[in-house]
Amino acid sequence: MQNTHTLIIGAGISGLSVARMLTQKGIDNIVLERASKPGGLVKCDVVDGHLFHRVGGHVFNTKVQGVADWFWDQFVRDEEFLSARRKSGIFLRDQLLGYPIENYLYLLDEATIRKIFGELLNLEQQGKREPMSYPNFEAFLLGNFGPTLYELYFKPYNHKIWKTDLSRVDLPWLEGKLPMPNSREIIMSNILRKEEANMVHSSFYYPRNRGSQFIVDRLAEGLQLNTGVQVETLERFSDSWVVNGQWMAQQVVFTGDLRKLHAMLQGLDAGLLSGVEALKDLRSNGTSNLLCETDPTEHSWIYLPDGDLPAHRIIYTGNFSPTNHPVGSRPSCTVEFSGKTSLESMKATLKRLPGNMKVIDHNFEPNSYVIQYRGDRQRIAAVRDGLREENLHLAGRFAEWEYYNMDKAMERAMEVVADIQQKA
Ligand SMILES: Cc1cc2nc3c(=O)[nH]c(=O)nc-3n(C[C@H](O)[C@H](O)[C@H](O)COP(=O)(O)OP(=O)(O)OC[C@H]3O[C@@H](n4cnc5c(N)ncnc54)[C@H](O)[C@@H]3O)c2cc1C
Repeated sequence: MQNTHTLIIGAGISGLSVARMLTQKGIDNIVLERASKPGGLVKCDVVDGHLFHRVGGHVFNTKVQGVADWFWDQFVRDEEFLSARRKSGIFLRDQLLGYPIENYLYLLDEATIRKIFGELLNLEQQGKREPMSYPNFEAFLLGNFGPTLYELYFKPYNHKIWKTDLSRVDLPWLEGKLPMPNSREIIMSNILRKEEANMVHSSFYYPRNRGSQFIVDRLAEGLQLNTGVQVETLERFSDSWVVNGQWMAQQVVFTGDLRKLHAMLQGLDAGLLSGVEALKDLRSNGTSNLLCETDPTEHSWIYLPDGDLPAHRIIYTGNFSPTNHPVGSRPSCTVEFSGKTSLESMKATLKRLPGNMKVIDHNFEPNSYVIQYRGDRQRIAAVRDGLREENLHLAGRFAEWEYYNMDKAMERAMEVVADIQQKA
């Protein structure tokens, strides 16, 4: 049996951040990761000289000073990273528009403009309503943007991403993650034709080499990391945890899939255990990705809202760093599809997309987007608090069922580390 103070399950951004922060504070820890290399969702490979973000295309930014300070302490920012301004587009009915859609409505056809602005003016007359006062995501989108814009853009796009009934999706969960302009602001944006400057990712940093795998590998440097180890049992004894019958720790940090946790747990109070087991029914979506060569473009991303087009986004990863594709080759991009999509169907979709794309590789990740229905957050919080009392901490996108970006995962890692340090 190997002893350590804190055992961390999972070497994605969350687990590695926790481990590195603990190490920096002198707290002994071991990380167990079931995959053959660290990274989780942000993992990258190189295929035929092109960098392939296996899930999406990960860029870094944060508005939280504490996260920025810690993150940039791990890197030599100006030598190791490039900074870029985001240029997003929307490819709607074969027309390329700016992002977000509500600022570029004046580019639509006259009949659609008349309908949308008629509805926005009606909404404006009804008075300002706080976004968070709507009962669910669908009611917010309909009430805030009107039925025509909802049907044209928000409904098909969000249905593609979430593959679920939007009226069941909780709104507080999306607070701070989406632009939420009211009708007056939308009308003004279209008259003044202002570019949206305060988007979540309006500017970002990106490693000069090896994409987000570079971030992961730096965070993993010097850690006691065991790859190829799937955690299957977590046994609770009075003041310790035994993991896979092989490691003993006072504290455990779980960053894996919350739905799988109940099957690992032994020796806990039956009430807490049944609360964990009840979380088996949480819903998530996967992502299928195509890595392609494409004609050069200035865009960072293009969103694909059309309901009859299976893909939902193109990420021009080839634009993020010149080292992301071989010298003399066209740049690469990743085309994202929600859920499991066959290679044939993905290839057929390319014919309808701009850029004259050619397929290099593809990947399917079964869990990429968490879906939060009404009440999920409360159920999860109760379980998280109960487990914390037992020195088992939940941290990360799938362990907490939150729509975390990398910076949010690091912020949460800081909280968990502070908690562990207090108990140490
Ligand atoms: C399409 C897409 C695009 C995104 N783009 C961005 C972006 O541009 N910028 C940004 O900041 N964020 C982005 N994100 C979010 C980002 O990917 C996540 O915030 C982050 O990767 C979450 O890391 P994590 O460690 O919490 O989870 P994960 O990456 O899922 O890591 C969990 C790890 O635990 C391991 N594990 C699970 N169970 C076990 C077990 N039983 N035993 C051992 N190991 C186990 C897994 O193998 C995995 O490595 C994006 C996400 C998606 C889906």
